Amino acid sequence: MYQDLALYIDGEFIKGGDRHEQEVINPATQEVLGQLPHATRADLDRALAAAQRAFETWKKTSPLERGKILRRVGELARERARDIGRNITLDQGKPLAEAVGEIMVCAEHADWHAEECRRIYGRVIPPRQPNVRQLVVREPIGVCAAFTPWNFPFNQAIRKIVAAVGAGCTLILKGPEDSPSAVVALAQLFHDAGLPPGVLNIVWGVPAEVSTYLIESPIVRKISFTGSVPVGKQLAALAGAHMKRVTMELGGHSPVLVFDDADIDPAAEMLARFKLRNAGQVCVSPTRFYVQEKAYDRFLARFTEVIGSIKVGNGLEDGTQMGPLAHERRVLSMEQFLDDASQRGGKVVAGGSRLGDKGYFFAPTVVTDLPDDSRLMTDEPFGPVAPVTRFKDTAEVLRRANSLPFGLASYVFTNSLKTATEVSNGLEAGMVNINHFGMALAETPFGGIKDSGIGSEGGLETFDGYLVTKFITQA
Ligand code: NAD
Repeated sequence: MYQDLALYIDGEFIKGGDRHEQEVINPATQEVLGQLPHATRADLDRALAAAQRAFETWKKTSPLERGKILRRVGELARERARDIGRNITLDQGKPLAEAVGEIMVCAEHADWHAEECRRIYGRVIPPRQPNVRQLVVREPIGVCAAFTPWNFPFNQAIRKIVAAVGAGCTLILKGPEDSPSAVVALAQLFHDAGLPPGVLNIVWGVPAEVSTYLIESPIVRKISFTGSVPVGKQLAALAGAHMKRVTMELGGHSPVLVFDDADIDPAAEMLARFKLRNAGQVCVSPTRFYVQEKAYDRFLARFTEVIGSIKVGNGLEDGTQMGPLAHERRVLSMEQFLDDASQRGGKVVAGGSRLGDKGYFFAPTVVTDLPDDSRLMTDEPFGPVAPVTRFKDTAEVLRRANSLPFGLASYVFTNSLKTATEVSNGLEAGMVNINHFGMALAETPFGGIKDSGIGSEGGLETFDGYLVTKFITQA
């Protein structure tokens, strides 16, 4: 049984009526899984009014009470992980173990925010006169609107909800219409954990129509978006026109720097598997592989061998290591990347084409000999395609790694302390992973610089985007 799909407004699950419905497709089989109701204008207005009303009481609810609900959400998420995960595999495609893992890891975001919201401190500033008290307090910003994508449908949504709700804000969230089950399941988790009506509202629709309506509403004070750079820029511009705060978690094109002195075989194996997680549809997926000259042949041989050994199939089948791409758009995009690669002299050393005639499967692919200005080296592939190229020295690879407008994740493999220090200082990236993958934990900040975004989610920084600073001086 697939998730029952609905809107969630003012504490009620709503569907039917004369609402437009959108088919949800299983990317492994192209079968229709369910019908997703779109919000009408009246639904959006109702969500706005509910969020505004709920804010008046939620902002005064103690962090201890807010934390209790968040903690319960974490517990319920763990209990329901298998069912929620199965639905993610059905509507998003990733292998079941990855989908269940997404829920289990993300339950920690609820735990972390439950604790951390009790530490939203202000400060006392020493006054110039003895009878004056100067206080800095941090208050919830108000009603927030969030837009989350389909690649980690549970993860991306829960991160925004726990930050907003933990800070004392209320929220209207539009999830991904392509893969909606996890967001409806999340609404049920918060509902069952006792979140008061109106604090969280879930809507669906035509993305640009819903986002424009919500961002332009005077009720909404803050926007949070995870998705592509072009859409992020549009939404940030619209928010700017209305002087609204934004958090933007956008795309990247993560460079991988493998130095001659690294442990080459383990690095190649780890990177090949990490590259194909969620079929490469990950904003921090390693996407440009720069390998130093002496290590190049050995790295490429082992990397290609592991990439070629990955079992691709329906994510519900035992042994599947990589599922289909989430929708037809991604398959077409992979084909365009490979067309450009062949025109630019690239050599396909593994994969290179669509697999089968049912479902959106694409072979894990490795391409070499591409110039730095080819599409694969400059545009985020967001799929199971890895371009591998050579470099000579540290200065050259840093220049090439930093040459794009993005700055999300980066990866370095070296056994030299000097090199590790030099490149971690020199890389223009929001996150640098050296000799392992260690990002996206609840207690660590996640975010990009340059075109990859504004603000961080997780870590101590997590509430910053949801709080305003008020200075109080009293004589
Ligand atoms: P897209 O740019 O059309 O959409 C990306 C996401 O933004 C989707 O979830 C979509 O529903 C949403 N969106 C699009 N227009 C919107 C609008 N005006 N208002 C609000 N939301 C809007 O592309 P796509 O084909 O769905 O995904 C492919 C690209 O998206 C990838 O190349 C990748 O760069 C990016 N992406 C990034 C992430 C991430 O985690 N940063 C996640 C998913 C997709």
